[in-house]
This record gives sequence, C-alpha cells and structure tokens, in this order.
Amino acid sequence: MNMLVNRWLFCSFLWFLSLLSFGQGTEAERFQLKTVVIDPGHGGKDTGAVGRQHKEKDIVLDIALRVKDYLKKYLPELNVIMTREKDVFVPLDERARIANENDADLFVSIHANSIRNSRIYGAETFVLGLHRSEENLEVAKKENSVIVLEDDYKAKYEGFDPNSTESYIIFELMQNVYLDQSIGFASAVQDQFKNRVGRYDRGVKQAGFLVLRETAMPGVLVEVGFISNRSEERFMASESGKVYLASAIFRAIRDYKERFDARNSNLIVQNSNDNAGDEQSHFNDQSGKVLYRIQIASSPKPINRNEEPYNLFDNIWEYKEGNYYKYTTGLSYSQEEIQKLLPRIKEVIPDCFIVGFKDGERIIP
Ligand SMILES: [Zn+2]
Repeated sequence: MNMLVNRWLFCSFLWFLSLLSFGQGTEAERFQLKTVVIDPGHGGKDTGAVGRQHKEKDIVLDIALRVKDYLKKYLPELNVIMTREKDVFVPLDERARIANENDADLFVSIHANSIRNSRIYGAETFVLGLHRSEENLEVAKKENSVIVLEDDYKAKYEGFDPNSTESYIIFELMQNVYLDQSIGFASAVQDQFKNRVGRYDRGVKQAGFLVLRETAMPGVLVEVGFISNRSEERFMASESGKVYLASAIFRAIRDYKERFDARNSNLIVQNSNDNAGDEQSHFNDQSGKVLYRIQIASSPKPINRNEEPYNLFDNIWEYKEGNYYKYTTGLSYSQEEIQKLLPRIKEVIPDCFIVGFKDGERIIP
C-alpha cells in the first residue's frame, strides 16, 4: 500500500471517529429525554366523539399542536414528533410505528371523552393495563373501536375485537415494563389539570388501549374532558380552554423531562454500573422530594392483582424489600394529598398505611 492510500485511510479513520463521538453526544446527553411523540387522536374519516357543536378530532388536534408549539419554544432541544398535524386518518398501528421508529422516550395520546350521561365531566389519564372497572373498559372500547375503520384490522391486530370484553383478557397477562414511569407522567398531567386548570380530577386509570400496547416506551392516553358535557365541550373548544389544557400537558412533559434528566445525570456522576433500564424503574422516586404511596399488601409471593380486593385499585405499584413483595396504591408528592386518600383506602384495607420514598428508597415509616 502506498503512503497516499495509507494517509487517506488514516484520515478517514479520524473522520469516522469524530462522527462517532458527535453522534453519541456527551455521556449526559445520551441519557436525557430527547424525543416526545404527541398523538392527537382520530382524524379524517374518524371523527372520534361528537358533541353538540364540535368533534373530538378537531379539539384534540388543536390542543396537540399547541403542546408542540410550547415544547418547541421552551424546550428547543427536545425532538417533538406529531402523529398527525392535519385532519387526516392515521391507523393506530401507524401511530405506534411512528413512536417506535423514532425511538421516542414518551408517548402522549390526546383525546376527549364521551358518555351517555351528559352530567359527567372531568379529566382523566390512562396508562396501559387491565381495567379495574366497567367504566374504564368502556373508554378503552370506544377508543380502540376506531380500528374497524382500517381495512385489514382483523389481520393487523391478530383478531382483536375492540367491542368484545373477552378480547381484553390479553391485557391481564401483559407485562407493562413502563408502568411506573407512565403512572408518574400520568399523575403529573392530572396534577396540572387539577391544580393549574381547575378541572375535575377523575384520576389516573388503567385500561387496555391498543395504541399504548403497541408503543415500546412510557406512554399515556389523556382524556382532556367530556365532549358529551355541554359546559366541558364549550371549555375545550374555547381559545382559553385550549390554551389552559395545552399548557398543562406541556408543563407535565417539561417536569417529567426535568426529573428524568436530573435522575439520569446523577447516575452518570455516581458512575453507576446499573443499566439505564433498571434505574428508570425507580424513576418516580427521585428528584430529592419524598414520594408518598399507600401500602396495601406485603407478601412472600406475588399477589394476584385481579383478585379482590386488589382489583379495586387502579394503580398498584410493586416493590421488593428483602424477601417480600410489597404493593402500594396512590401516588403523590404531597403528604396532605395522600393523607386525604388514606381513609378511602382504609375502607377496603383497614391496615393500610402511608409509605414514603426518597431517591428510590423507602424512608417512611
Ligand atoms: Zn378518542
């Protein structure tokens, strides 16, 4: 090999190295929340729920676009991807594909609810799991039923019938590795709705949403309000209502990113040998604040969450201490809030008690 070729090879090698290091970014950057997918529900021939004057597809697109604008403006380093930006039909599996192929760190699907009883109102945020009530199952059925508008839905979703209760059994056996993070983010959304927008808080719930099942990252489905309730429809369709709801979702994402990044930069400083996936499972418990939960069970063997009384709780979280599996419900950074919840849980489980975690470790009691 002559000198020239040698030299060329060496230069190419250096260039390749520089590409590698640019591509990876700093160690800290690699563990930051980088990509969020915003998914406005429905669109095109799929109107979603229909109110007196407005359609779900229009309201949620408008709110979602505002969330995107806030994120671009205030978190310019964040990569924001929309599953649609216009009034077009996007199949559920396509929405999930967009999130998976872009390696998203968070998936936020935005919807508006509808129910026969027009007096019902309020906001709720779902994470993937088995429904604990008929009401939650109905929401999942309604949102999943849009797949029948897709040509080959039977093949694509392996015979899943969105309107048959039996189809939802698959969600019972499913492992949701992102449950903890999803619940953490869902709680942040609900906190924002309740405390900053004054919405009635219907809570964080679980149900079997296909779009969440197919996404491989923490994700939620937000129901910003009931289009079937006259005043909530008016609020959601109003300029100020959209601004409020969008900024609430934006702030929840911003706060989630802040906690996520802080947690992960601590990990790097500590030079932990644990892999990022393991660490993220404690994600809710970081940020230096005490995170309160209510302990409802402790057992040498895993409990069956689908049996009474555990099936009465929406968000059961498991942690292991010594040889025991311990189960909690409720989730709040506010001691006052968790105290308020305690009597309601005690009605079902008289010997439940408050536990507090800081930086992933139980400190209370
Ligand atoms: Zn919807």
